This record gives sequence, structure tokens and C-alpha cells, in this order.
Amino acid sequence: MRLRNIKGSRETIGASDFVVHEAEQQKGRWSELFGNDHPIHVEIGMGKGKFISELAGLHPEINYIGIEKYSSVLVRAIEKQSELLYPNLKFIRMDAEYITGVFAPDEVERIYLNFSDPWPKDRHARRRLTSREFLARYEQFLIPDGRLEFKTDNRDLFEFSLEEVEAAGWKLLACTRDLHRDPELCRDNVMTEYEERFSSMGNPIHKLIACRIG
Ligand code: SAM
Repeated sequence: MRLRNIKGSRETIGASDFVVHEAEQQKGRWSELFGNDHPIHVEIGMGKGKFISELAGLHPEINYIGIEKYSSVLVRAIEKQSELLYPNLKFIRMDAEYITGVFAPDEVERIYLNFSDPWPKDRHARRRLTSREFLARYEQFLIPDGRLEFKTDNRDLFEFSLEEVEAAGWKLLACTRDLHRDPELCRDNVMTEYEERFSSMGNPIHKLIACRIG
């Protein structure tokens, strides 16, 4: 999701207390920033932040960090948080390629990936957020039984992700190719912006949950 360049978005982000500006300096110290030792859940590629903002409101006992590459989208999440003021929600503007620079071993309990960019060309496979290269990065900071939860409507990306989970030696805990018709996995489901858009077009939503240690 890349919105047209929104005038002043970089300045808005630079001035926002909801954004952690030098995130590398928080590595190993996120609990200090939140002022408690609650578990940390991270969404990578959060877009305008609907999903993570709703989760933060539903679960004050969890600390949430939303990562987004583009300023033009991140400003929308900041606008929401300016009204919600959830103390358990922070944002980082960064490319997830560098994610191991901001989290220390065992610092994160859960990672959410929602409707991640598919990068359809084979030569770009390593850019997919569910590639084995990214799973290896996540292993460096997830707790031993930490989870990855991934939703998409893109069948090819989903099948690729299942293969990568297996190849990386992760354990598949749950899998559905039609989330909204799966009573168990759909319970407590919080919809993302893309999920609302694609499911309203009739696209089935796929979901997997994987655990780092089998
Ligand atoms: N997760 C949202 C949803 O489900 O509505 C947005 C989905 S949108 C298709 C993918 C988002 O991931 C975009 O906002 C994009 O900028 C972001 N993104 C893609 N690759 C990224 C990366 N390497 N690091 C951080 N954000 C990334």
C-alpha cells in the first residue's frame, strides 16, 4: 500500500511521540519504554494501523509495536493514535529488512504479518516477509515458543509461505484457506483494512499460525 506522497508526512512523523525515532537504541530495552514487562507483539507492514490499533484497545496487557516502511501510510496510524492515546502502542518507520537491529533475543512474543506484499517475481522471493530469510531474522528475537500469524488472500504467497515455514523448521500450528468460514480460527479475528476490502470482493482469506520451535 503506497498512498500518494502526503505533504508533510515526514515532518508529522518526526514530531510524533507515538513513533520511536531511534529504534535501534531501544534494542533490549522495549520494556523500559513501555514502563512494564508485558509481552511484546509486533505487526510488520501495518499500513494505516487499523488492525494493531484495535488489538491494542482490546488487550491493554500486551505491548504492541507497528512497523511500516512508508511515511505516507504511517501518518494515518498516527492520526488514529492521536485520538486513541493507547499507552501500549508504538510505531516504527523502517524497512523490516533491518528488524534484527531493533529487537534483542527473546524480546518479542508474537509477530503479525497481514496481506504482505507478494513480490511475485521469483528473483524477489527473499523480499517476501514470510521467506526463509525473514524467518531467520525473526528467530533472532522471538521467544522460543513465539508465534508468527500470517493472513493473506494471495494463494501463491500463502503456498510459498507454508513451504518456507516447513523449510525453516518451524512448526505449523494452524492453517486455513477460508478463515471467515473457520469457526475456531475466526473467533476473535480482527480484520485488517485489506482483509475488509478483499473479503468484501468475495476473496477467501488464508491464515497460518507457526511456532518457531517445533
Ligand atoms: N497490513 C495492512 C492490511 O492488511 O491492511 C496493509 C497491507 S499492505 C498490502 C502492505 C504494507 O506493508 C504496506 O503498507 C507496505 O508499505 C508495508 N511493507 C511492505 N514491505 C515492508 C517492509 N519490508 N518493511 C516494512 N513495511 C513493509
